[in-house]
Formats: sequence, structure tokens, C-alpha cells
Amino acid sequence: MKIAVIGGGPAGLYFSILVKKWRPDIEIDLFERNAPDDTFGWGVVFSDKTLSYLKVEDEPSHDAIVQRFERWDNVDIIHHDEKITVRGNKFSGIARIEILHILQERARELGVQLHFRAPVLDLSQFQSYDLLVGADGINSEIRSQYAETFKPDLSTRTNRYIWYGTPHLFHGLTLTFRENNAGVFAAHSYKFNKTTSTFIVECDEETWQTAGFQDMDEDTTRHYLEEVFHHDLHGGKLLSNNSKWINFVLVKNRHWWSERKDKGYVVLLGDSLATVHFSIGSGTKLALEDSIALFHALRLTERLPDALIEFEAQRRPVVDEYQDAAYESLLFFENLKDYMHLDPIPFAYRLMTRSGKVDHENLRRRDPVFVEQYESFVK
Ligand SMILES: Cc1cc2nc3c(=O)[nH]c(=O)nc-3n(C[C@H](O)[C@H](O)[C@H](O)COP(=O)(O)OP(=O)(O)OC[C@H]3O[C@@H](n4cnc5c(N)ncnc54)[C@H](O)[C@@H]3O)c2cc1C
Repeated sequence: MKIAVIGGGPAGLYFSILVKKWRPDIEIDLFERNAPDDTFGWGVVFSDKTLSYLKVEDEPSHDAIVQRFERWDNVDIIHHDEKITVRGNKFSGIARIEILHILQERARELGVQLHFRAPVLDLSQFQSYDLLVGADGINSEIRSQYAETFKPDLSTRTNRYIWYGTPHLFHGLTLTFRENNAGVFAAHSYKFNKTTSTFIVECDEETWQTAGFQDMDEDTTRHYLEEVFHHDLHGGKLLSNNSKWINFVLVKNRHWWSERKDKGYVVLLGDSLATVHFSIGSGTKLALEDSIALFHALRLTERLPDALIEFEAQRRPVVDEYQDAAYESLLFFENLKDYMHLDPIPFAYRLMTRSGKVDHENLRRRDPVFVEQYESFVK
């Protein structure tokens, strides 16, 4: 069998690793438009549960990832200048580029043919491949060239976000809410190595317009946001990695795979298949789990249509559930203004339970002290 993987993000690399490890005779060519050291964004977070899957599937890459982790169990919520800490939320942070380097090295070691600086636009070059894997991210070329088949549903959301780094270390997932005369800003931050934290700023369209970001260049934008979060950054700087304001796009697809007209099959994986809002920190996790599911389906049966049916049957309910939870979380941030009047404790409670994945009793198990504080407040 011959497989072409388009996109060298977590989804494409991990799928290639698993298949090549299982069956070295399968030829895998992975095409990535960027160079091996290019990446967008800064750090990403993982929950403990994700890590246990990675250990089972490929111990060497799991061990290399874990060695570079920064770990914490607290969510800190800064609202009305008060810090509320909620414990019992085990997460680990790592630089996105570190994960990519670890996966690239592992894929190379196993014999995956990695082609960097190889943007794919013309799909006719893949006629000799049995399976084409579209792991090319949120703006997937594969998805748009097969749009008639996949029937994607792309919803551009109204909030804007910008992904910075900062040398100020946030020990734990820190969600900071600040208001100025333009409106309301939220920052999602956490350290992901010994020297740097991720710092994502999000605001609604009205705040964005009123602040005048449409007329600001990159430096002015950064200085403006350094001022909004001056207290939280301890006067520190924001670091740009070609950082720009973006509207989050919620991606869904009616169909996940198809037979190609010329030869073989095509399937989507990771962000090209489905996105989840970054406020639940699960996009990379889902991309890796998609890869695991597709690999297991192939291992079950090498008859491609059967494997692809199996992949979709196993994976769709899980992806739907995460997208539902992430949607609730996204709505919280889109409607942030409606919650800003709340006192810090009920605000933190509303925030922690926003996605529906964590309910009152679950929160009590995570942090009984916080739940007691909340119960005394609402009595
Ligand atoms: C602000 C923000 C914060 C986030 N934080 C987290 C977090 O904390 N935790 C988490 O788990 N996830 C997080 N995510 C989500 C995460 O980044 C994605 O879900 C994840 O990277 C998806 O992996 P992927 O491999 O599907 O796609 P990507 O990582 O986007 O990789 C796709 C690759 O395909 C390449 N490519 C694209 N088009 C072509 C082409 N035509 N030819 C060749 N190559 C191509 C791209 O260069 C890229 O390398 C965040 C996302 C954002 C935007």
C-alpha cells in the first residue's frame, strides 16, 4: 500500500508514525509546505488522559514529549482584580515546535519520507497512492478541492484572538479578564517551558473596533495589549510569532472520507476534519486521537473502504461530543460581557462549568474548598 499524507502537523506526523511502526513495508510520503523549524503559535496544553493514550501507542515519542513538559493542576481566574484558584485540573504544557520536532524525528527514524517546503496544490500528482490523508489543518486545501464530496460546514466566529508568547511565567492555566474604555478582553495563559508562557488575547468584534485595532500595526497592537494586561504581565513584554488577529473558524464535515475518481481513497484528519475552540485546549489532543483511530481502523482491515467506515463510526461520536463542549465554551467567551458583572466566585464557577463537561459534583471532586466557597456565596 502507498499512502500520501498532506500536512506535517501533529495529526499527519502521528498517523505516519503509527502506520510505519506497524507495517514498515507500507510506503508513506508526507508533504509539508513549511520548513521543519517553522511553526505558528507558542505552547499547547494536554490533559493527563491524552498522555496515557500516547504511551500505549508509541512509547518513545511519549517519553520524549513528557520529558519536556511543564505540569500544573491549578486554573487561576483573575476577575475584578481578584485571583481565584481552582485546583484538581491536571494539565501539561509544551512548545508546539518541540512536539513537532519530536514527531518529525520519530517519523524519520521509522522510515517515513518527509518532504518539507512542499506545498500541495495539485492533487493529480497522487494518482499512484492508495490513500490520500488530508491532515493540512484548518484551511485545508484537500478539503476545499474535495468540497463537493466532504460538504464542509465552516462557521467563522465573531470574536477575534491573537496568539502571543511572554517571558512572564504563569504557573497554571491563567484566565484573566480586563476591561477598559473599549470593552472586555480575556487572556488565556500558561507557561510551556522554563522561560516562556503562551498568552492568547481574545475580544469581541465591538471591543476590537472600538479599540481601533483595524488601524494599528503589529507593534502598536502589541503595546496596546501590554498596557491592558500591564498588571498581569508585571510590566513584561508580549512576544510576537508573526502574531495576527484571527477569527476562529469552526470546521465540521458532513462526510469524512471518499473514493477518489482517479484511484484510491481520501480522508480528513485533525483540524481539517473538525476544530474545537482553543479555550478547551483540546485541538492537538483530538488531532492525535484521530490519527490513532484511523491507524486502528487500518489495522483491523486493510480493505480501505471498510477501514474508513470503521474510522468514522468509532470517531464521530467522540468528535461530536468535544465539539459540543467546545461550542459552549466558545459561547461563554463570545458573551463575556454578560458575565462581567458577576462577583469573582460565581464568575469562576460559571467559567469552570461553562462547557458542560464539568458539573457541580465533578468540580467538588476536583476542588472541594472552592465548591464550599461557592456554596457559601450563593446561600
Ligand atoms: C490560539 C490557539 C491555541 C491553541 N491551543 C491549543 C492547546 O493549548 N492545546 C491543544 O491541544 N490544541 C491547541 N490548539 C489547537 C491546535 O493547534 C490544533 O488543533 C492542532 O495543531 C491540529 O493539528 P493538525 O495536525 O490537524 O493541524 P496543524 O497543526 O494546523 O498542521 C497542519 C499542517 O499542514 C500544513 N499544510 C497546510 N496546507 C498545506 C498544503 N497545501 N501543503 C502542504 N502542507 C500544508 C501546515 O503548514 C501545517 O504544518 C490551539 C489552536 C489555536 C489557534
